[in-house]
Amino acid sequence: MNALTQEAAIRRRAPALDVAVVGGGMVGAAAALALARAGFSTALLEARAPAAWSAHGEVDLRVVGLAPSSVALLDELGVWTSIRDARAGPYAHMHVWDAESGAAIDFDAASEGHDLLGYIVENNLVQWTLWHALEAAGGGSSASCARGPGTSMCGVRRLCPAEVKGFEAREDRIQLELSSGETLSAALLVAADGAASPLRQLAGIGTRGRDYAQRAVVAHVRTERPHENTAWQRFLPSGPLALLPLADGRSSIVWSLPEAEARRVLALDEQAFLDELGMASDFLLGRIVATTPRAAFPLKLQLAEHYQADRLVLLGDAAHAVHPLAGQGVNLGLRDVVELRDTLVAARTAGRDIGAGHVLRRYARRRCSADTLDALGFDALARIYAWQSPALVAARGLGVRLLDRLAPLKRRLSEHAAGL
Ligand SMILES: Cc1cc2nc3c(=O)[nH]c(=O)nc-3n(C[C@H](O)[C@H](O)[C@H](O)COP(=O)(O)OP(=O)(O)OC[C@H]3O[C@@H](n4cnc5c(N)ncnc54)[C@H](O)[C@@H]3O)c2cc1C
Repeated sequence: MNALTQEAAIRRRAPALDVAVVGGGMVGAAAALALARAGFSTALLEARAPAAWSAHGEVDLRVVGLAPSSVALLDELGVWTSIRDARAGPYAHMHVWDAESGAAIDFDAASEGHDLLGYIVENNLVQWTLWHALEAAGGGSSASCARGPGTSMCGVRRLCPAEVKGFEAREDRIQLELSSGETLSAALLVAADGAASPLRQLAGIGTRGRDYAQRAVVAHVRTERPHENTAWQRFLPSGPLALLPLADGRSSIVWSLPEAEARRVLALDEQAFLDELGMASDFLLGRIVATTPRAAFPLKLQLAEHYQADRLVLLGDAAHAVHPLAGQGVNLGLRDVVELRDTLVAARTAGRDIGAGHVLRRYARRRCSADTLDALGFDALARIYAWQSPALVAARGLGVRLLDRLAPLKRRLSEHAAGL
């Protein structure tokens, strides 16, 4: 075979894409952008286009606390300034207290040498901004790459609405079959399709964990006193209540309650809801004077048994769903993105197949152990704060008071939460 026919044969054999990312939520969209920026030809497949975000619209009911590590990734991807300037609630303090023992712990950015602990942002704003950046990065119906000396950047081919009906891993590629009848091939399939992950199920990857039998009731509320750029969280016997500072001066509540209690709270008339919420928050920010409509989300701990199968990896909630009490779900997902990108770049630099089992195992090993440790830590917190016997409550109070005085340990915890 001469050189030309050999090259043509290789081209015929090569998969059309480096990476196909399924799921364009915050994690999948960030992954697609990060991989394209790193020079991988990428496609993003999403079942539903995100709702348009508008500065004049009501604040999305779903918000997340973004840790500094997530802000750093979004900044690197060139989207953070737009998100921050659009609507982001910075917080520099965190006050967590126990309704039963009265013990409290405080985290303060300044005393740890930082300006802030993080930002409260709308899920929809983050996703929408990432989608805009994907559009601006070009690609449209192709995932063409511009390679120059020392630089390489690809567009992202976006397919939406698109759903994967099935896939087959082959020696040199993974072949995707879409509901539309179209087929795609890539060296690697990234499943970022959320906690219910159809791809994880198609790959036969099981999960472990537990159902908290709780729902998180969410709403945005106006309080009598200002939130002071502080994330407040009160642990009640029924579950934690967080009041997270929004950019417009209101607070976003995440109120975890047993199923039946959550249903009752959702059905309360507005005044009764404001009164109950005021009592649950111990009136720390005074009375609750106004609220938006409420919504609720079921809570569970769910960890995928493996993060990897043949030419496939799991990312974000597809790999791990955690209790929101530590506000870390998407932060873990964005750390998955960084690890995957760095792993694939290292493999390419070493001339390796980015979908090879030994490459994907490196990503899976690192992220699975880090995510599992965090998820079990959050679960342990949920269990400890559920203790109700007087002796255990007293022990918990003692432990929390002690921790609040142990500055080096507190700093370690804070740095860990920040992803530093
Ligand atoms: C009440 C509450 C409060 C929270 N607070 C915080 C917080 O403060 N901080 C924090 O870090 N995290 C928080 N979280 C967790 C955070 O919201 C999630 O971790 C995050 O949204 C997960 O993002 P994701 O992109 O992995 O998944 P998702 O947002 O679920 O996105 C998955 C995407 O995949 C698409 N999809 C699904 N199936 C298919 C298919 N077959 N084909 C194509 N596309 C498909 C979906 O349409 C969706 O767009 C909270 C969660 C809850 C419930």
